[in-house]
Amino acid sequence: MTTDSDQVADRLAAVRDRIDAARARAGRDDVVRLVAVSKTHSWESMAAAVAAGVDELGENRVAELVGKQDLPDPHGRLAGVTWHFVGRLQSRKATDLVGRDLLVHAVDRRSLVDRLQRLAAREGVVQRVLVQVNVADDPAKAGCDLHEADELVAYACRHPDVEVQGLMTIPPLAASTAGEAGRYFARLRTLRDRLVRTWPTVRELSMGMSNDLEAAVAEGATMVRVGTDIFGPRGDGPWLPATKDAG
Ligand SMILES: *Cc1c(COP(=O)(O)O)cnc(C)c1O
Repeated sequence: MTTDSDQVADRLAAVRDRIDAARARAGRDDVVRLVAVSKTHSWESMAAAVAAGVDELGENRVAELVGKQDLPDPHGRLAGVTWHFVGRLQSRKATDLVGRDLLVHAVDRRSLVDRLQRLAAREGVVQRVLVQVNVADDPAKAGCDLHEADELVAYACRHPDVEVQGLMTIPPLAASTAGEAGRYFARLRTLRDRLVRTWPTVRELSMGMSNDLEAAVAEGATMVRVGTDIFGPRGDGPWLPATKDAG
């Protein structure tokens, strides 16, 4: 094992301990899924994380995800991984994602639902999505506004080849204390608890990152998205495989 993969394994163990401690404090005995967000990090680091037990990986740029997924993997080091697309998705790039069997976390508008429906029908697949909600009505953050969420979820649920599996949020940066972030996470949970009565597939709560995962688990997160605390500080831009023949 290289030092790098030792480090990833150690950090991963520490993150799992934090999740377990937060679950215990909240009296939860259900599973909290851990999505390791690998954006800007190399394929090797991702393989190291998988070797250490990660089974879900998330990316936030289409080209980076596609490049990493399509790298030759003769030893199956990323085999069996569940993939997530956690970034903002431009409609015209959705065509590169649909058919890759991944969960799209950040559906925030009707036009994207329409686009995913068309592509999924064409591919003969069901596209699994979360609806991203801007729980703080923070102009700097993506996601539909809280008061639009019911309508957008209902809209998406009426599309036969789009399955809404839950909700996702990113609290404002300014929510620096666990208590503040927790208030926002609680809003998403309240919304989910209401929506799931009408739309039974709307169960997942994707919330919590490196710096606020405890608060998210306390408020019922079913999946947390952790990058930095597993892989270390991010690089300057997307990681792309070296191409032999760029031209
Ligand atoms: C990068 C990213 C994360 C991981 O953030 P960290 O603070 O590094 O854990 C989680 N969610 C989304 C949507 C991201 O883009």
